[in-house]
Amino acid sequence: MNKTVFDFFNQDLQFIHGVGPVLAARFNDVLGGRRVLDFLLHKPSYVRPREILDSVTGAQNGDTITISVLVKSHKRGGVFRGRRHPTQVICADKFSAPVTIQFFNVNYLDYWTEKLPIGQWRIVSGKLDFNSRNGAIINHPEFIEAPENAAKIPRHQAIYPSGEGLSQKTFAAVRDQIFKIIHEQIAAHVNDERMLEFIDALEHIHYPETNDDLNPNNTYVAKLAYCELFAHQSAIAINRRMRAEQKSLRPVRAKRYDLIDKFYGILPFNLTSAQQRTIDEIFADFAKPIPMMRLVQGDVGSGKTMVALAAMIKMAETGAQSVLLAPTDTLAQQHFAKIAPMCEKLGIVCDVLTGRDKGVPRREKLVSLRSGRTKIAIGTHALFSDDVEYKDLGLIVIDEQHRFGVQQRTTMRNKGHNPDMLALSATPIPRTLSMTVYGDMDISIINEKPAGRIPIKTSKISIMRTNALIDRIAPQIANGAKVFWVCPLVTESEVSDMTAAQSRFDDLRKHFPHTGLCHGQMDKKARDAVMTEFADTNSKMRVLVSTTVIEVGIDVPSATIMVIENAERFGLAALHQLRGRVGRGSQQSYCILIYSNNVTPDGLKRLDILCETDDGFVIAEQDLMMRGVGELLGTKQSGWIQYYFVDYREHRDLFKLAQSAVMNNNSDDDAWAADLRQIFDCSTIAGA
Ligand code: ADP
Ligand code: MG
Repeated sequence: MNKTVFDFFNQDLQFIHGVGPVLAARFNDVLGGRRVLDFLLHKPSYVRPREILDSVTGAQNGDTITISVLVKSHKRGGVFRGRRHPTQVICADKFSAPVTIQFFNVNYLDYWTEKLPIGQWRIVSGKLDFNSRNGAIINHPEFIEAPENAAKIPRHQAIYPSGEGLSQKTFAAVRDQIFKIIHEQIAAHVNDERMLEFIDALEHIHYPETNDDLNPNNTYVAKLAYCELFAHQSAIAINRRMRAEQKSLRPVRAKRYDLIDKFYGILPFNLTSAQQRTIDEIFADFAKPIPMMRLVQGDVGSGKTMVALAAMIKMAETGAQSVLLAPTDTLAQQHFAKIAPMCEKLGIVCDVLTGRDKGVPRREKLVSLRSGRTKIAIGTHALFSDDVEYKDLGLIVIDEQHRFGVQQRTTMRNKGHNPDMLALSATPIPRTLSMTVYGDMDISIINEKPAGRIPIKTSKISIMRTNALIDRIAPQIANGAKVFWVCPLVTESEVSDMTAAQSRFDDLRKHFPHTGLCHGQMDKKARDAVMTEFADTNSKMRVLVSTTVIEVGIDVPSATIMVIENAERFGLAALHQLRGRVGRGSQQSYCILIYSNNVTPDGLKRLDILCETDDGFVIAEQDLMMRGVGELLGTKQSGWIQYYFVDYREHRDLFKLAQSAVMNNNSDDDAWAADLRQIFDCSTIAGA
């Protein structure tokens, strides 16, 4: 264990020279942590060259240029005849070509003119605004230095993904400080060659000279990516080993009832062969002595709930209990409404427990769970409150599993003795990657939809045609159609999402008086109420305007139209998920993707994929190839691991290398693997 290094890695950035609590808090927002390590794992996104030029001639409008200029004169700015004029410093380059430097905050005139004294050479660096009337202009240069201080301007400036209140200069200063400490105080104490190489690789990516140095295929980036993958893979291997040593209670439970055949008998439809295969895989797990840990992936509407129910009923044959955990109250109630009648026919006691249950009724439910009478409990995380006890919890089913954290999964598991886990996910992930993403889990795929589904018709239109769209859907709404209208993620801030949804709501309400609104700023109760009203077949609400907070998996079979604004800003997988909210009933459904005026040709091409296919796995693969992971909005929902250095597209070979390195487990590597697991915080790996 490299103690000195880790002490430094874990140090709060606030104690780095020049940082302090305010900046540390801002770093925390950007880095997702405020330790030195969080900074070190934050890779610059590109390099801005600032080589000093002698002449502006040849530079392009919009380029960032760094140039030596001779200051000729000052032209004081201010407000003249009602118009604002900038302060101008007129200069010339080495070939006497004019360069004008402009400042708009004229109050600081003296400051700027002192930095740019007449008759002196200065090096300025900033964005060139070239036009035929005024020639070369640099507004507010980012650097102004005397020639003897030229070294203060970085020739190759690493540009970091940043946030409010954090300038690139701050990033550079903190980085310099960190590496200074490493060289002066840390490196000498490290006796592990691999750690030194690791730090060296970090230093290379924090001091890149060209964009190639930040490329996934760059030696140092690839090295870091490999370390990251190795950390994850070794964490997964440990999980797997630990699980193999656990003993399930299943083998000691006796079968007491015949339920599963009866269940098949009362099913109102035939299972698809993919559903049947998945159930077989689950039952094969049940025949083994170790706890099951299985993930079922299948598109929305592929019928995952019935598969889960089959597993829970199989569990009930021995008298053991199962829980089905849903991310929201609404979803829990929907599951209960569907499952309870079937359980009743089979004589299985089924109950629902959410945060809404209070007082005596809740206590009664808890008694029934504790006595083992309730065999199937459906609910939210209320099922795992401290005072909830189970007689013999055998199986935990987690619906939309990415919505639950590791901590929650651990709490759940502790309610039983090595219970089986079954996770359901509507996010298809390309097969090649699922192992690495879902770690320790075995995977079943439902790649087939129940027969008789009418494919959703998907089309894309420009925002300019929104009114035409409203005219087109009006008669359908008059005939009872229900519409989801999803508003754009304007920025990551919820406030502006809300504004967009609010103004669309105001607009649509003029056409359709019974329109509902649902966004993240509303409290959960109000949101649930709107959603429930929209789902209610008897309600008049026809249109639901919302931000993407609309619940994953919500079932409104009468909803047939999904409109998504600014669709190009979402990941394909996220769009596909949203689209899955419709097309659940017997009516033809439609998905309309509205793109904004600044959509790129690539953005349009991505939308075309969605118009052409309904296969979630094809879409996931395309998404991955076209944009990688984590680059666009909407990935939060996708549940994929956000790597620091690994690029899903470019590092596929490294995935395999890391996997086989872990499998050939060389005990020399154990200490280093443990260090890497700590560096890349593997405690959040799925299944851990
Ligand atoms: P999801 O995989 O999105 O959770 P659900 O389990 O909610 O899908 O199933 C969607 C709908 O399809 C439900 O109304 C369910 O009853 C129905 N369903 C499930 N399996 C079949 C099947 N084999 N044939 C016909 N309908 C089915
Ligand atoms: Mg579902």
